[in-house]
Amino acid sequence: MNKNSTWSQDLDEAILKGCQYSGSRAKGIKTFSASQLNASPLQNYLKMITEPKSKDSIGASELGTIFQLGIDEIFKDNPRYIVARRKELKLENGWTISGETDLIDLQEKVIIDFKVLSLGGFKNANKNLMYEGYNVNMAAYRLLNGEEYSTALSMFNKGGSAAKNNVYQHLELDLMSNEEVLQKFIDATNTIDEYLNSDKVPPECDNIWQYGKSNGKPSKCLLYCDYRDVCPAFSMPSQGTMDRNFINDLEPKKRKPKNPYAVETPVYDF
Ligand code: SF4
Repeated sequence: MNKNSTWSQDLDEAILKGCQYSGSRAKGIKTFSASQLNASPLQNYLKMITEPKSKDSIGASELGTIFQLGIDEIFKDNPRYIVARRKELKLENGWTISGETDLIDLQEKVIIDFKVLSLGGFKNANKNLMYEGYNVNMAAYRLLNGEEYSTALSMFNKGGSAAKNNVYQHLELDLMSNEEVLQKFIDATNTIDEYLNSDKVPPECDNIWQYGKSNGKPSKCLLYCDYRDVCPAFSMPSQGTMDRNFINDLEPKKRKPKNPYAVETPVYDF
């Protein structure tokens, strides 16, 4: 197949349009999403001061959106379930916490998040660690929706034939208390404010080598981060310039250098 053929380009364009985010992601808005609790201070800071670039290729987030659109279609007319419910909570420090749940079972009071995972992601999620990963996100969703809810992952294993019969699984999650997760939100948003009110930039993410490296660059930056084009830690690691002026001076063109490390088809979970 020729990737440049008209039908192929039209198809990609239609999919990207169908997956466009409907909310606001303008910079400077003090809204903090449930998923940001798992992000580093540097990523959260960069999200606050930079405009998101429009997507020109289909990646894992589009795969997640396509999957969610299918879930919405299946459950939209079933009164037992609510799809895509967004809830917000205002904090005293001026920030608003926001989170949209995939599906809520009103009868059994369960918040359900759908995941399409690799074999490794499937195993990791099954560790069910209260203070890590999806457990943190789901604690945030419970905070937003009410203590009467429990939470669960509904996981699809995309591990191919290696997945054997272990393709689909439900997992009820162990959660930290509402007080603990609320404090996490307060701490994370205060941290962003501290950096915004100073000339300092948060330090390089401390776990960038967790996923190994590709051509000498951390795989986490290449595969998992939307901010590598504007991240001083990634763009010019040898200079180590981490002040605000450095980021302000980045012209849009410079923010999108021809990245020799670009990975066209990243494989990761959402
Ligand atoms: S590019 Fe790397 S160091 Fe920079 S914010 Fe992303 S993950 Fe962190």
